[in-house]
Amino acid sequence: MKYRNGPDGLHIFDRKTGFNALFDEVRIPRERWSNAPRHVSVALTNLCDLHCAYCYAPKHRAVLDVDVVGRWLSELDAAGCLGVGFGGGEPTLHPAFAQICESAARNTALAVTFTTHGQRLVPPLLDRLAGNVHFIRISVDGVSGTYERLRGRPFEALRQRLRDALQIAPVGINVVVNQDTIGELDAIAALAEEVAASELLLLPQQATPTVSAIDASLKHQLESWINAARPRVRLAISEAGSEGMPTCDPLPNEKGLRSYAHIDASGFARQNSYAKEGIMVGDEGVIAAIDRLRAVTGDMN
Ligand code: SF4
Repeated sequence: MKYRNGPDGLHIFDRKTGFNALFDEVRIPRERWSNAPRHVSVALTNLCDLHCAYCYAPKHRAVLDVDVVGRWLSELDAAGCLGVGFGGGEPTLHPAFAQICESAARNTALAVTFTTHGQRLVPPLLDRLAGNVHFIRISVDGVSGTYERLRGRPFEALRQRLRDALQIAPVGINVVVNQDTIGELDAIAALAEEVAASELLLLPQQATPTVSAIDASLKHQLESWINAARPRVRLAISEAGSEGMPTCDPLPNEKGLRSYAHIDASGFARQNSYAKEGIMVGDEGVIAAIDRLRAVTGDMN
């Protein structure tokens, strides 16, 4: 169990079961709020072996050092962070990926999660990850021919990877919502139910140098789908793109960098992976870098 003080009260979290409880009748003075973001994502490498057109990951070579990541996670853990999400690029391509997860699980009380295209989740790696990760997010952009066209990999292999991953940890399915995938949300939700995924995370496409963000008409279609859908799997949506969608926020006062921060594969702390402003995490540590980022971006949360 981990305890976190924040503007909404006392938050209790168990990484093994995913149990969350908020005691919102507990009023906590600001000076006692946890100084770390509730969740931090860390891009371990920019490297990826797929070539999705809508990819937002930077394309220059960058890989984080194992020991540096370990120090950041210990500091975040001590400052009240509840979980880390490894990403990239493709995090499983980091040469020490399994070691990083193992060390995070052993040396901190953080929930260890990662987002992956899933195609490399085969037994030798899964065996090393077992017991050291608490949630796995697998990207499933469309089904069958759509997936194969967008991701360039066989869909049936992905279906098997989903089942294999579920042997070691709960799995969530991520879908980038765009013109190609909006019509396949029912099929993706059915897949999530079929493989007993715990969550379906909708990621409305954001603008990158090669694609534009989803337009008003697509947003409207997505909103209609959310309102009508009754999947037997938890639905979630990324903050980027959630405006106007029917969402429920259990922590309405824990905003900005108090809620979430991203560290890219070059070691810059950012408000999210799309943000232009970044502060290099130096010797003074990750919390000091996030504090400087608060000042630079005017984040008063
Ligand atoms: S799998 Fe992810 S990181 Fe790799 S190219 Fe596709 S979107 Fe980018």
